[in-house]
Amino acid sequence: MIIILFGPPGAGKGTQAERLVERYNLKQLSTGDMLREAINRGSELGKRAKSIMDRGELVSDEIILSMISEKLIDTEGSGFIFDGFPRNLQQAKALDEILNKLELKLDIVIEIIVKDEVLISRIENRVRESKNARSDDNAEVLKNRLNVYHQSTEMIKPYYLEKGKLVKIDGMRGIEEVSRDIEGHLSKIRKKLDP
Ligand code: AMP
Repeated sequence: MIIILFGPPGAGKGTQAERLVERYNLKQLSTGDMLREAINRGSELGKRAKSIMDRGELVSDEIILSMISEKLIDTEGSGFIFDGFPRNLQQAKALDEILNKLELKLDIVIEIIVKDEVLISRIENRVRESKNARSDDNAEVLKNRLNVYHQSTEMIKPYYLEKGKLVKIDGMRGIEEVSRDIEGHLSKIRKKLDP
């Protein structure tokens, strides 16, 4: 199974991806996590990415695509779940090419819908409770990340809609309910893959 979890920053993609990893033995490919690991290792790539991430802008497609290609070679497990990737149309098209070459097929793109106001109030709560360990996790950077999301990332929706891959889920509910909806969609796909 190859899944893309799609949605604005703070929508809960990471939390839902972690649950799916356990439930279906999938490998989570989070480009944000890969970049944070590179920063923690103190690598050259991490140093280049950090200031861009702290501003809430997008890291170059070249860096992102080379990280993703490396990880896709190892096909152990039952599939992949992309979280935070692709983030623009070029990345979406490049992902199709990479998957084609590897003779893999994208099954579904799950959009977790959360309104901007809700995301902003969630982040303000986290800041108030001092739960924000990330340097890009504050209301000001979030507003920039939301602008980038609406200007670039959302452009991939028509691309996947046309391919019949996009499903939408209301992310403004509890974690369990969102999980249940996602699993409902995935069980339909699993039946198709293995009737
Ligand atoms: P995330 O944890 O997915 O919210 O990502 C944190 C930050 O990493 C983003 O605000 C971007 O600066 C960068 N980033 C993560 N994934 C990508 C991507 N696919 N393309 C470009 N930049 C990315």
